[in-house]
Amino acid sequence: MKLLTFAKTELRNLFSKPATRPYPQQERVYPQRTRGHIENDIDTCVFCGLCSKKCPTGAITVNRAEKSWSIRRFSCIQCGYCVESCPKNCLSMHQSYTQPAGKKTVDTVCQTQEENQNAS
Ligand code: SF4
Ligand code: SF4
Repeated sequence: MKLLTFAKTELRNLFSKPATRPYPQQERVYPQRTRGHIENDIDTCVFCGLCSKKCPTGAITVNRAEKSWSIRRFSCIQCGYCVESCPKNCLSMHQSYTQPAGKKTVDTVCQTQEENQNAS
């Protein structure tokens, strides 16, 4: 009896589509409301520091004097509080996730330099 059940499962699996995706040939399309990672439109930022104060994990650092905004991506829990609290709406949640890395890096965006820097 058990052998018959096994044969049925085997036949069904042979003629059905695989349950997994053939990654990387077929990339995952995330649902619209996926919380992946935070981006800052630095040109709109006024460095008020509200996002940093609201962040429950302390992942954001704002330096008003240097006009820089930093995020420790591996500390971020994608709660979205910073996006909700930003008075200039310059923060946004993007669907793609932070890439795996061997070190916990800090992403910094400066208004003056307008370029991303990575630091340990
Ligand atoms: S809350 Fe918005 S405007 Fe204020 S520092 Fe954060 S990102 Fe910039
Ligand atoms: S999404 Fe949440 S944890 Fe991540 S930086 Fe914003 S407030 Fe902090």
